[in-house]
Amino acid sequence: MRIGAPDQAPSGIAAEVSYFLKAPKMIIGGAAHDGETGRFEVFNPADGSLLAQVPEASEADVDRAVAAARAAMEGPWGEMSGAARTGLMLKLADLIEAQGEELAQLETLENGKSIMMSRLIEVLSSAEYIRYMAGWATKIRGETLDVSIAIPPGTKYTAFTRKEPVGVVAAITPWNFPLNMAVWKIAPALAAGCTVVLKPAEETPLTSLRLAELVREAGFPDGVVNVVTGGGAVGAALVRHPGVSKITFTGSTETGKAIGVQAMKDVKPVTLELGGKAPMVLFDDMDLGLLGPATGIGIFLNTGQTCCAGARLFIQRGIYDEAVATLKGIVSSLPMGPGMDPANQINPLVSAKHQDHVSRAIAQGISDGATPLLDGAAPETGYYVAPQLFEGAGPGSALMQDEVFGPVATITPFDSEDEVIAMANDVRYGLGASLWSRDINRVMRLVPKVQAGTVWINSHNIPDQNMPFGGFKQSGLGREHGSGALDNYLETKSVCVAYS
Ligand code: ADP
Repeated sequence: MRIGAPDQAPSGIAAEVSYFLKAPKMIIGGAAHDGETGRFEVFNPADGSLLAQVPEASEADVDRAVAAARAAMEGPWGEMSGAARTGLMLKLADLIEAQGEELAQLETLENGKSIMMSRLIEVLSSAEYIRYMAGWATKIRGETLDVSIAIPPGTKYTAFTRKEPVGVVAAITPWNFPLNMAVWKIAPALAAGCTVVLKPAEETPLTSLRLAELVREAGFPDGVVNVVTGGGAVGAALVRHPGVSKITFTGSTETGKAIGVQAMKDVKPVTLELGGKAPMVLFDDMDLGLLGPATGIGIFLNTGQTCCAGARLFIQRGIYDEAVATLKGIVSSLPMGPGMDPANQINPLVSAKHQDHVSRAIAQGISDGATPLLDGAAPETGYYVAPQLFEGAGPGSALMQDEVFGPVATITPFDSEDEVIAMANDVRYGLGASLWSRDINRVMRLVPKVQAGTVWINSHNIPDQNMPFGGFKQSGLGREHGSGALDNYLETKSVCVAYS
């Protein structure tokens, strides 16, 4: 079903969605698979109702998926040219768009997010991402190298490098942008010629399962993309599987560290995109008309469930009172309600567990002495938490140091550039940051001092497929997106040729 206009509420749940929800299945080796150990439940965050029952993968299922991925690697997929891979990827992007409304509704139902976000980001930007990465499949290249080897005397040498697919990729994804995160990993892996076993988050496995069906429909050989579903134990079984050659993970820093330790035990390459606690630094000379997008996109996009969310606002003293009053007005007027109504900008959080985590972080902030500025109430049904802004959070407090991953931000005044850079960097994370100022000299002076993988100027929280994305410090290892994304999935082989 063709995708609806971003700001249009669906007239009802699409028939294809209701049909899919009846019996979602894993896809292993191109075939639908029920799993052997039963099913787990996926809930609709908007009202807590049961949405679907999804197969729980066993270790044997993980084995099967890795074996299927390896067989595809050694079989038809491994033989395929870059141009043929491009063609299949472009077909997949078209199918994602063609089934766009179904995927968007499925995403909003399992995750709770706005249907507008599901349409624009999960579906349309995922299709665009696949098309971008598809182009790289025909542009993989090595180098020819001058070498100085002189043994035995009289022998000449020349050398070149080949870029070869690393092999079977284990991709483990989080629940905040389920389809988009799956695509961020699958698309460069496929462009590089790898095969994939994807393990989506247990809260939001549905769009990944549907994606795997579309991969099959696009005509990819069996086993190129496999999806196994279940909790962290399934992810852990995949990570330690000897048939997996590369691990790519997006999720919490704690889980990322555990995965990194296992990867190092097995000496496997690993890419980690982890947590964040992004600073947004608002200078006296900023355009105050930008406070709307700063708040709506920078902080509260996806109800604050983004790893780059501007969770720590620093506002220069000269505009402090005015900016805080404006921010309070904006945030308290953000409509809150189910994601199926695109007018709602604050939606339910993904799960009851996460609702509890965010509520506890707010309570902890108050008991640590921070002052809440808003008194909005959340709907009682569904996993809602009303947005909250805090003043007076101590620099070492949990609110300033730990990722809340919800509609919560701290506000801190500052006077000088040096003072605010020290505060902005005073955290173990370093994923995103933003500087808001009209003074290009100030901005260019400060960019090198900010410890973050992405620094936005007069905007925040907007990634792009052509812009490397990843973390400094404990926010991760490696970069996704851009031409460099393919290197995550390629090995370099030096070939040294002797001749006389
Ligand atoms: P959260 O705590 O917000 O659920 P996680 O980082 O734990 O975030 O989860 C992100 C993804 O990592 C999910 O797909 C989850 O099932 C998976 N996961 C959790 N624990 C592990 C683990 N030990 N090994 C591999 N994957 C895991």
